Amino acid sequence: MTRAQELSEKDKRYVWHPFTQMQDWRQEDTLVIDRAEGNWLVDVEGQRYLDGVSSLWVTVHGHRRREIDEAVRAQLDRVAHSTLLGLANVPSIELAERLVSLAPAGLTKVFYSDSGSTAVEVALKMAFQYWRHRGRPEKRRFLALTDAYHGDTLGAVSVGGIDRFHEVFRPLLFDVVRAPSPYWYRCADAPDPASCRDLCLTALERLLDKHAGEIAAFVVEPLVQGAAGMITQPHGYLAAAAEMCRAHDVLLVCDEVATGFGRTGSLFACTQEGVTPDLLCLAKGLTGGYLPLAATLASEAIYSAFLGNHSDFKTFFHGHTYTGNPLACAAALANLEIFEADHVLERVAQRAELLGEELESVIVPLPHVGQVRRRGLMVGIELVRNRATREPYPATEAIGARVCRAARRHGVILRPLGPVIVLMPPLSIEPDEVRLLVEATGRAIAEAT
Ligand code: PLP
Repeated sequence: MTRAQELSEKDKRYVWHPFTQMQDWRQEDTLVIDRAEGNWLVDVEGQRYLDGVSSLWVTVHGHRRREIDEAVRAQLDRVAHSTLLGLANVPSIELAERLVSLAPAGLTKVFYSDSGSTAVEVALKMAFQYWRHRGRPEKRRFLALTDAYHGDTLGAVSVGGIDRFHEVFRPLLFDVVRAPSPYWYRCADAPDPASCRDLCLTALERLLDKHAGEIAAFVVEPLVQGAAGMITQPHGYLAAAAEMCRAHDVLLVCDEVATGFGRTGSLFACTQEGVTPDLLCLAKGLTGGYLPLAATLASEAIYSAFLGNHSDFKTFFHGHTYTGNPLACAAALANLEIFEADHVLERVAQRAELLGEELESVIVPLPHVGQVRRRGLMVGIELVRNRATREPYPATEAIGARVCRAARRHGVILRPLGPVIVLMPPLSIEPDEVRLLVEATGRAIAEAT
């Protein structure tokens, strides 16, 4: 038995993989990753694969970036973990200062947790408790979009709206006011993105008019609804929605777990529409793909509402064991420094333009490609059985999974979202790698459809 076979066999015997039908998994070849170099993953047999989805949207500047490696090693020589319950630590202080300086003006406080889901969970609980402190306990519901995804803990699942993931948990969830997602390609009533935006905004305003008195916050993924299939919002949607929330005294929570850290072309997506949310959720790319860390940034007004005497019980009673972990914060600081040192956002603009051109020439003409959606380096390729009628592939065909398996044979790691093929390469992707990514994806789509 080779080492690869042995590891694969043990994986199947002991590991339960996330979002995976293990009966299928046990029949398939297991790709076991051993190491990585830059934008490439290397398996235990030495085979190299371009990391086309940034190891699930986290790797920002490539794997094994010297500066981040060194920052983590240096922190290891000081302390790996100490708690934020009753103590402070150096990297968590420095990172909070840095995040506040980079975030949209007005977000002044940083609350740490460990994952995108917990960043959202924290925001929900903060918004809920904020209104209690303000003497408005009836503002206890949340408004969210259809097809939203905010993570897998129960609060995050409640505001999420992707039935194929979460239907089974419905009895455990709280009730949410649901606004339509501006998903133009699948909107029967809108002939173009601008009319889709206007229809969705009208519906949003109607819901706010009716329910604002009982709504704590509107929770939204700004510019791109990632897990729904990279649904790109029409220009102007976010700014108008933010304005409506303000007018109706409803807090705005921007979940930038997927869109944050340069993916859409700016450090944070909400700034492209001049929006400052009341609460901003960050995770995934925060440490450049090194360690689990999340942050919920809050406005001064929200933070201040929690101040009081001990006996007032206004404390935010929430915290995780690894909150503010020094190793993770050190990785995040080094990750953020690279943005400036390497002029990363300028490079993203160039790479995104090249990616757009390649998609246009290689992917758009393919007969089963319904729509190619892109914001910066976030791409969703929606596959359809019939392009003219937009007839979707039935879920039983698992078309996305088939394409991604084919892409692997061409040396590229992809991961689908149903019938949508996601491309989300590291921001450090080089021009020849952009071409390879798109060509391999095109070949895989042609083979599997
Ligand atoms: N929010 C958004 C917008 C996401 O895309 C995700 C994950 O894909 C999450 C929250 C959950 O993050 P995590 O998987 O780190 O809990």
